[in-house]
Amino acid sequence: MAPTNPTSTTCDVLVVGLGGVGSSACYALAKQGYSVVGIDQFDPPHRFGSSHGDTRIIRKSYFEHPSYVPLLIRAYDLWRKLESEIGKQLYFPTGLLEIGPADGVVLQGVARSAQEHSLPIELLSMQQASERFPGVHGSCHWQAILEQDAGYLLVEECVAAHIEQARKLSAQIRVCERMIGWQADSQGVSVRTEQGTLHAKKLILCAGPWASQALASYSIPLQVLRKHLYWYATRTTNYAQDRGFPCFFFDTPSGYYYGFPDHSGQGLKVARHSGGLQVPGPIDGQHPPDDQDRRLVEEFLGTYLPETELKLRRSSGCYYTMTPDEHFIVDRLPDAPNVVLVAGLSGHGFKFTSVLGQIASELATEGRCEFDIDFLSLHRFLGLQPSQAGHGS
Ligand SMILES: Cc1cc2nc3c(=O)[nH]c(=O)nc-3n(C[C@H](O)[C@H](O)[C@H](O)COP(=O)(O)OP(=O)(O)OC[C@H]3O[C@@H](n4cnc5c(N)ncnc54)[C@H](O)[C@@H]3O)c2cc1C
Repeated sequence: MAPTNPTSTTCDVLVVGLGGVGSSACYALAKQGYSVVGIDQFDPPHRFGSSHGDTRIIRKSYFEHPSYVPLLIRAYDLWRKLESEIGKQLYFPTGLLEIGPADGVVLQGVARSAQEHSLPIELLSMQQASERFPGVHGSCHWQAILEQDAGYLLVEECVAAHIEQARKLSAQIRVCERMIGWQADSQGVSVRTEQGTLHAKKLILCAGPWASQALASYSIPLQVLRKHLYWYATRTTNYAQDRGFPCFFFDTPSGYYYGFPDHSGQGLKVARHSGGLQVPGPIDGQHPPDDQDRRLVEEFLGTYLPETELKLRRSSGCYYTMTPDEHFIVDRLPDAPNVVLVAGLSGHGFKFTSVLGQIASELATEGRCEFDIDFLSLHRFLGLQPSQAGHGS
């Protein structure tokens, strides 16, 4: 698809949702010279969806599936390019310490991805891990893997940077404008918002935890989980980023827990990757506390990171949008190939958003992308037949 003359009233691509994925898609499209309009029901970055809470882990030896690694290599590259464009650090390479049973899903998966893609990792016994990172405890039967080429991204700043750069490249960013319905046919797409109707050749839907509402007629089996993040003070400086403490991910008998070093005195940030309360969808930014979740997190800290002071400094809520197999959906809709869907990032998608924006932009404009993303296809969940291409009135 050749970029349209920007004076035309119909844009090339409409992007609905300007969180992690949509902000990046607008940037990728605008950078290639396409006319793009991006809309969001709020004013991103905001705290109502899935892209907030200061930081997100980024790692490369992906335990979830080695097929993600080529995407991650590009994602790293794109984050670095974005940093150099805006002249600001977004990625902090603290390293990541992954701890658990040697034959568990996490350590085995990390080792497999590292081996298949020749990525550097360091294997440590639990004792070596505790000596290298004082204050870290674990079963003497466990092992650890240190991924040096991992760390965290500043989540809100990444979204803000993509939006800002897209704007500079002439993308039209419309905030506080909610999509209430969309239609697609061979001529193009139209999106009805509370303010009017927008037309485009192509549509990218990246509505995060609101995806099911945007795609109601497709009955895609997405499940929204309410999750919680916690910040705790520490009793020593052992968990401080400036003392070399890394991000961490533990595979324990009570589930997966992860967190971030204490930086700038913010406290140790920790959360449960497992669990979460299933909800119909985000509810006006309300995140009632979950006492059981907090109790489990504090038990985890008491056992494995006991130099934490169990006085909560701050907490925040957020949403995972889960697919049944916990892999993303990145695809064109089968009955509306001019509509691209990026959804169901299943609680591990932010690190990818730089590359997912690029992939979504290529799928929209070229109908294909350079990566093998068959494992992310929508078809794996479509036993169900969509009634029509579109949603809403
Ligand atoms: C607690 C927590 C911790 C996480 N930790 C990590 C991590 O360490 N590493 C990692 O890689 N990933 C992590 N993730 C996952 C990652 O943050 C998400 O996968 C990612 O942010 C999702 O981005 P998104 O663009 O799909 O959704 P969002 O960022 O939520 O964006 C969706 C946007 O669509 C807009 N929207 C929806 N419907 C409409 C509509 N009808 N009209 C207009 N706008 C609409 C919303 O307002 C929103 O801005 C974590 C997630 C959570 C909740």
